[in-house]
Amino acid sequence: TTKEWNQLRKMLPQWVEESRRHCFDGKVASYIPELSKAPIEALGIHILDGRGNAVSAGDCGLSFTMQSISKVFTLILALIDNGEEAVFSKVGMEPTGDNFNSMLKLELVQPGIPFNPLINAGAIAISSLIAGESSLDKSARVLRFFQLLAGNDSLDYDYDVYRSESETANLNRSMGYLLKDNGVLEGDVEDVLDVYFRHCSISVTCSDLAKMALVLASNGKDPLSGKQLIPRRYVQIAKTFMTTCGMYNASGEFAIQVGLPAKSGVSGGILTMLPGRYGIGLVGPSLNRKGNSIAGVELLQKLSQQLDWSLF
Ligand code: GLN
Repeated sequence: TTKEWNQLRKMLPQWVEESRRHCFDGKVASYIPELSKAPIEALGIHILDGRGNAVSAGDCGLSFTMQSISKVFTLILALIDNGEEAVFSKVGMEPTGDNFNSMLKLELVQPGIPFNPLINAGAIAISSLIAGESSLDKSARVLRFFQLLAGNDSLDYDYDVYRSESETANLNRSMGYLLKDNGVLEGDVEDVLDVYFRHCSISVTCSDLAKMALVLASNGKDPLSGKQLIPRRYVQIAKTFMTTCGMYNASGEFAIQVGLPAKSGVSGGILTMLPGRYGIGLVGPSLNRKGNSIAGVELLQKLSQQLDWSLF
């Protein structure tokens, strides 16, 4: 509504500055060495609706890598390529309660398939389901799909982050080999991991994320062009996973405090939406203990409470 847009335009800069103070209570991710270069005090947000209204505040010019946010969209591409039945023979539909990079349950719980597609193990399994002749061909299809959803043909990899992750990913590598042994992965493990590292390192801004989120908020249709880019059913599946598993093992708390489908990444990005209304992209590289943007979660709580956005 016009009233809400007026309030957003008026209040957003102030809410960003209030939330930004929390940056210093968190830490920038450093297990991927290149990510530790991100500015700890940054916070930016972009909100977009289907009529082309947009508002942004804070450090919206910052480029950052999608990291785990990309898992939502590789899941969708795998569903488009293989259908529901094939995808859910390789990954489950349940939250884990464990850290995003845990491999505990892959050994503990038979038949050793990842609990869901948004934890690392699940997303690695999903990257082996992307159609293509070679791993580079698969990665090229992923990048093109992301460009289409963001309406931005210049989306590309951050090669420094890609190399940095690939060189240090001992845990993800172990997971890949365990999954191969469990019969979950097709093909060469290193090729599958390369597809995964590449999609995690696609570089975006808040407005790219907002645009991708808006497509999900509009049930797969690009409201600006009117084109159906994703089948509605696959958007429904993606939004449900975002609600139950999107904020790692803080998804329950986020559902209570914010109440929107969302997906975070370790570079501090969060993609979220108010279904039927807004696509939202934000970034704040300083993370809380669960690995979510500390100031970003604060800001979303404020927005949700002030504007009564919770779906529940
Ligand atoms: N590329 C990162 C990793 O595999 C993604 C994790 C994340 O954003 N939580 O560790």
